[in-house]
Amino acid sequence: MKADKYIQNYIGGKLVPPLSGKYLENIAPATGKVYSFIPDSDDRDVELAIQAAKSAFPTWSKADTRTRFRLLMRIADILEQYLEIFAQAESKDSGKTLKLATEVDIPRAQSNFRFFATSIIHFPSESHYNPGESINYTLRQPLGVVGCISPWNLPLYLLTWKIAPALAAGNCVVAKPSELTPMTAYLLAQACIKAGLPDGVLNIVHGYGSKAGQALVEHPSLKAISFTGGTETGRKIALTAAYQFKKISLEMGGKNPNIIFADCDFASMMATTLRSSFSNNGQICLCGSRIYVERPIYEQFRDEFVKRTQFLKVGDPKSTITDMGAIVSQQQYEKVLSYIKLAQEEGATILTGGQAVQLSGELSGGYYIRPTILEGLDISCRTNQEEIFGPVVTITPFDTEEEVLTYANGTQYGLSTTLWTQNLSRANRMAEQLEAGIVWINCWMERDLRTPFGGVKNSGLGREGGFEVLRFFTEPKNVCIKY
Ligand code: NAD
Repeated sequence: MKADKYIQNYIGGKLVPPLSGKYLENIAPATGKVYSFIPDSDDRDVELAIQAAKSAFPTWSKADTRTRFRLLMRIADILEQYLEIFAQAESKDSGKTLKLATEVDIPRAQSNFRFFATSIIHFPSESHYNPGESINYTLRQPLGVVGCISPWNLPLYLLTWKIAPALAAGNCVVAKPSELTPMTAYLLAQACIKAGLPDGVLNIVHGYGSKAGQALVEHPSLKAISFTGGTETGRKIALTAAYQFKKISLEMGGKNPNIIFADCDFASMMATTLRSSFSNNGQICLCGSRIYVERPIYEQFRDEFVKRTQFLKVGDPKSTITDMGAIVSQQQYEKVLSYIKLAQEEGATILTGGQAVQLSGELSGGYYIRPTILEGLDISCRTNQEEIFGPVVTITPFDTEEEVLTYANGTQYGLSTTLWTQNLSRANRMAEQLEAGIVWINCWMERDLRTPFGGVKNSGLGREGGFEVLRFFTEPKNVCIKY
């Protein structure tokens, strides 16, 4: 298991260079320096991967579920055995803290394999009975070759969240990880070889989204696409897929509200709000970047939140005392800083943060930003409407439930909402009316892998998780028997 300098594609069970022989630079966000190289794959590499997956499909799709179970469990065990190597690679590639990668990202990738290895054994099909006449039963058959496309913010966590159910359901996969964070996908390929996954069952093609990703989406042999990433990329994929009637599942952007009522458990809310605002530098699609606070506790909240945020340490992702590492790329770093500038133009007061952090020594070229809290912005301004995907939150007071519902639902997005209140009736009433795929009450990021996961409006189409995703990755066929 080795994070080599030259990452290779994984096609037909082998680690292979891109056919063009060209590589892209892979930059470590903590230093801003090139540290490895990624295949600049094109449609020819995608073609090879699709052909390998097609050849593997007849055997894999008919394999006993216990065979799939055993292999997926073996991959999970290898991820566990090499946790340190995976976590170090994830931290180096993405700039996230080593602690987060060790405690969250890689353990969750293991859980994804274990969860879907066992889920497929318990995945039921339906039967519809007409007494004295007929019985119908539903076969759930694998689709064929499917594409899994993932983003950079939770690289292995989200890639395996797609790959594991697709494989468990009997499909063969061509995956395209983010070009910004390819290393753990490369290590996963090595883990699959070590686990004895049959050749071609999983293929991983690296490179640009607009080149390798687009070639994958366009390929006529691809039956379905599971995508996580930005809303505009999702729209493009949906347009391409529609022409060929491909099945799609899209997990896209968010601008999630965090609604805090005066009757909340203040200590618990404050500790969780710090996490839901700034974990992974705010680069989690589920982070709550619009914070609405009921007026009676607004000032108390603001003062405590600002004080606690000022204690957060931005620094070397490898250090155990760092709370926030580097932003994933120079482009994302500049985007976040440009939104802070825009917010000021829109009339924001910066309560804390608002600027880049200049570290020294080998970290001097890295992309660091102080966690930023903004106040005084209009609900409809761009800062409150557009996804920043960085360590930036806005805080706004509200007076009534109706008012805050309008605020919460007032964007194009609808991924998740967090709600803090001790009033059970209000919690249930609001959960019904919030336009979101996920509502967390008095918690955040409590993830039970059995639950449906996804967004509404421009945040998503379809659901991942539990049996929902196994339904996505299978085709139902009704068989009717008359007697
Ligand atoms: P992105 O859309 O730029 O890229 C995502 C993936 O799509 C990458 O692998 C990229 O190479 C690929 N891609 C780009 N263009 C493509 C094309 N034309 N055809 C096929 N593939 C293409 O997103 P990103 O910047 O990597 O990730 C950040 C975004 O992801 C944010 O908007 C965030 O909210 C979203 N996200 C959503 C969820 C969720 O569950 N809803 C989870 C994590 C991240």
